[in-house]
Amino acid sequence: NWKMFGGLNSLNSLNKVLKFFKTFKKNKFTKIVYCPPNTLIQAMSKKLANSQIKVGAQNCHAADNYGAFTGSVNSFMLKNVGAQYVIIGHSENREIGETDKIINLKIKSALKCGLKIIFCIGETLQERKKKITKKVLNKQISLGLSKIKDNKNVLIAYEPIWSIGTGKIPSSQELTKTTSFIKKTLKNIFRSKSPPVLYGGSVDGNSVKLFKKIREIDGFLVGGASKSSKKFIDIIRNYYR
Ligand code: PEP
Repeated sequence: NWKMFGGLNSLNSLNKVLKFFKTFKKNKFTKIVYCPPNTLIQAMSKKLANSQIKVGAQNCHAADNYGAFTGSVNSFMLKNVGAQYVIIGHSENREIGETDKIINLKIKSALKCGLKIIFCIGETLQERKKKITKKVLNKQISLGLSKIKDNKNVLIAYEPIWSIGTGKIPSSQELTKTTSFIKKTLKNIFRSKSPPVLYGGSVDGNSVKLFKKIREIDGFLVGGASKSSKKFIDIIRNYYR
């Protein structure tokens, strides 16, 4: 997740990642998705066309059709320029007014057009202190995924808000407990296997050494470290080391 960073010249930073990935022994097991700002989706998709690396967007409008929504882009428009994934419900968007209801509509629209969704959930520091993390996550999951039956194109990203961009990370014990709870909740909702659960929040080459030991974590949503090819490659290397 590059967030609101990067211009066309930032795509050069992918050269090193592409070079590394070509000869990386575990590349068949590794799925990488870059989510740049919308302005870079098309150029990035072209650049990565002959690689295993996919491109996603960071948000979408909930409408299925074109409409008078100045400044917005819907999931069909994102797909049209090369996105195959879309992040929905990121805390930075929830913070500026995105509700569970809107998130649910966005998820429905994105799935309808064939995008895979990376649905973000997570508690604030205050909620964690009040020990209501499970209640918060349960609400976000059940409202966000309301009336969604097929989990095939769904990925969940558990991102404790207090951990995003702060260098603070949950203990292994806490993370094991929370991710187990998330998977149990998802299994109940879909009445089948849980979709993959990613962890996000200050993931770097160092913290990944701890996270990789947690069985419930199926992957990572990387913010800050994804913008530097060196830091990003470090995460992949150390995950398999
Ligand atoms: C994010 O952008 O969702 C994120 C987890 O950021 P960071 O890796 O910088 O904490």
